[in-house]
Amino acid sequence: MTPPTPSTPGTRLDPWFGAYAMRAHNMRASEVRALFAVVNRPEVVSLAGGMPYLEGLPLESIAASMERLIATHGTTALQYGSGQGHEALREQILEVMKLEGIDAHPDDVVVTTGSQQALDLVTRIFIDPGDVIVAEAPSYVGALGVFRSYQADVVHVPLDEHGLIPEALDEALTSLAAQGRRVKLLYTIPNFHNPAGVTLSLERRPRILEIARRHGVLVVEDNPYGLLGFGSEPLEAMRATDGDGVLYLGSFSKTFAPGFRVGWVVAPHAVREKLVLASESAILCPSNASQMAISTYLETSDWKAQIKAFQVLYRERRDAMVGALAEHMPDASWTVPDGGFYTWVKLPEGLDSKSMLPRAVTGRVAYVPGTAFFADGTGGDHMRLSYCFPTPDRIREGVRRLASVVNAEREL
Ligand code: PMP
Repeated sequence: MTPPTPSTPGTRLDPWFGAYAMRAHNMRASEVRALFAVVNRPEVVSLAGGMPYLEGLPLESIAASMERLIATHGTTALQYGSGQGHEALREQILEVMKLEGIDAHPDDVVVTTGSQQALDLVTRIFIDPGDVIVAEAPSYVGALGVFRSYQADVVHVPLDEHGLIPEALDEALTSLAAQGRRVKLLYTIPNFHNPAGVTLSLERRPRILEIARRHGVLVVEDNPYGLLGFGSEPLEAMRATDGDGVLYLGSFSKTFAPGFRVGWVVAPHAVREKLVLASESAILCPSNASQMAISTYLETSDWKAQIKAFQVLYRERRDAMVGALAEHMPDASWTVPDGGFYTWVKLPEGLDSKSMLPRAVTGRVAYVPGTAFFADGTGGDHMRLSYCFPTPDRIREGVRRLASVVNAEREL
């Protein structure tokens, strides 16, 4: 990136423009952020956000246990805590991860302020400007923002309905090595991908791990949705079979509540030490109050039953979404997720989701254009639709509105 000059747009509005570090120039608000203000108007059906539906939570019993927590352990909950995270919670996190076959020690776990902070810490300790991070095409918009802010080069590798394609990964890593590029991380969302809605098959998982190992690339397994599958038991995590080559990121945001901002990383011993140092320099320690609230919830409630209830709720919404797409948008195609929050829709030939968005919002429906999920801004032929928050009726209404926007667009 070239350094900003007085004629660079923005300099006259911000007298400190020339003083920013290069990494700050790499931080950009999403182009669709302005539209999101209108998206929250009640008349708009938002299929855009990834907010979990929290009405189903037992709010009264959570309130009572939080009151008890402050009354009995207030001086600890409201105090500074450990940089690595509250020990009792780290032990409980092991129970959660056991559901995906992960066998770890409490010392391997670093609690973070949501898995978003874990993404920041991992990038901070591994990435120098110009280093390459390989990620799926498409990939999570929040991760791409972190990678950009640390001046990483993101190279996308295609996925299909079975997740990241091993042959394409091998080819990309071989070609990058031949160009002398330094590939540090493979960032992957194996379960119920955001935004693609697909899941990496069990057959491909060991192959992806083998390829990453052969090329000396550390795998970042980002797994906030893994327990929100609609079918059988949770799939075995990649971390379950590879303790040295995988950094596992977990979160309570989707299985419980994002407002506490509690996530975690499981990392090999030496990496864990660096992560704790990086986290201490960023925030001193994660919130004790939040961690202890989650710990109390895990101890006193039937959290597994709550996750089952979420699975049933989101499955019904997924069905409403794909049913409405089949009814109203037969010329589009979409993924049918087995869990999680999102479906990835390919628009009929020639349409562009980014330029269409203002007209969609006028038509009282919103989505996230595919361009948000590619480092180079391609992907306009796709959009991400979320079914997590609106009720099934609102989802059907939203898709009906979207279909009429798409039809009008074809006549433009
Ligand atoms: N990774 C992925 C794939 C996500 O979808 C999200 C949230 N949308 C996050 C990480 C961050 O989640 P949190 O910080 O709330 O744990």
